[in-house]
Amino acid sequence: MTEPTMNTEAETGWPPYGSRVVATKRDTTRTVRKTGVLLPPAKPSGPARLHTDTDRLLRLPRSGWMVAPETPTVEQRRSRARTLCPQGRPVYRWNDELAPQLATSSMLRRARRRPAEGQEPIASYLITGKKDYAPLYAVADTVPLPALSPARAAAWDRARTCARCGTRRRDFDGPYAAGRDGARYCGDCQEPAAERWWHAERDAGRAAAGAWARGVLDAAAADPSQVALAAIGYATLAYVPITATTWDGQPLISAKVGTSPDYPSERYARPADVIEQLRALQGRRLIVWRDEPRNLERLLEAVRREVPDAGDLALALAEGDQAGRHWDEWIAARGPGVQLTHPFRLQWWLHQQHPPSWDPPELLGHVQHVVCEMASITGPYWWRATCLDPGCGLAPRAGTSRAAKDWADQHHADTGHQVLHTTEPSTPTRDADETTRSS
Ligand SMILES: [Zn+2]
Ligand SMILES: [Zn+2]
Repeated sequence: MTEPTMNTEAETGWPPYGSRVVATKRDTTRTVRKTGVLLPPAKPSGPARLHTDTDRLLRLPRSGWMVAPETPTVEQRRSRARTLCPQGRPVYRWNDELAPQLATSSMLRRARRRPAEGQEPIASYLITGKKDYAPLYAVADTVPLPALSPARAAAWDRARTCARCGTRRRDFDGPYAAGRDGARYCGDCQEPAAERWWHAERDAGRAAAGAWARGVLDAAAADPSQVALAAIGYATLAYVPITATTWDGQPLISAKVGTSPDYPSERYARPADVIEQLRALQGRRLIVWRDEPRNLERLLEAVRREVPDAGDLALALAEGDQAGRHWDEWIAARGPGVQLTHPFRLQWWLHQQHPPSWDPPELLGHVQHVVCEMASITGPYWWRATCLDPGCGLAPRAGTSRAAKDWADQHHADTGHQVLHTTEPSTPTRDADETTRSS
């Protein structure tokens, strides 16, 4: 245990405890030099100690050793407006290497240690931006917390081991940050892991989109009247627009249905006028773009209010039957405005694709088109733009030929490099960083 001994330069000629120092011992044959942090004596009458940068603890008897402050680097000198805190302890800052010699209480907790009974801090850590000081303790004098159970110790180790390269972090630094897949990665592995995760998600998403679309086509082939293409537009205060046809093009409804007695208009159909057409939609599978179920709900509320015997009208949008969401996976573009080589770690969301037109007949045609396209393609469907410049090495993967071409055009305009286009099957990549390097 350490006595809360404070020394001063006046007393000893040595720098204050907690300082970074160079300790030198000369004897007849050789000179020993050690750098580290000067610690107070372990016992009141004992010698001061040095916790070296190689994590060893040396006793420094006054007779043998000369101790001088370590020469600060130019940057340190520039930022050293104050070298002692108000309590007279040496001050460390954000860019100083603290461990293994010194640690704040939260760093100690991360390393499952705590200050010993009565242990006083020997230095201070300037908290940037707060003008506040956190006490720093001599790690050598702290005591361990009770050991973890084997299961918790394994989890503890796992959180500090990179799931990709296996680097084990120091306990003082706390767990690694979790990647998007929930595993923890070191700083260098975050981006390759995020890229691998993204491509695995997209491979799965595209497979799911293709399976969904083939299911729709199978249902339509079995009975084209049972599958309906529908567009339920934004519910305004006054009306909800709804258009639907069967898969084979028989019109079922096309109306702006007035939903509010406060906004009557000749231009809107009354719910009673369309109740039979709405009943005709019942029991059919509705395939929409990305329509909000609450718009249909607003329409049904008005119908139930104004048509007394409409209580049994049951229409619902199945969440999986939104063609636009599957199309987003199919296109597999991040964005909007995200370049193929932007980091996956920061820009991972899917771009929500818009149909070429919101006009109901054209929109329904587009819904049918994307279902057919997603169902039909079973061959290669990743595009890769490989830069042929030997020093460049960029080869981003894209979901559409358009995205690959846009990137290639831009890259050629920026650098003059030639870019080769290839396609490849959508199989989960083992490790995406082998194939794509971000700029
Ligand atoms: Zn790593
Ligand atoms: Zn290039």
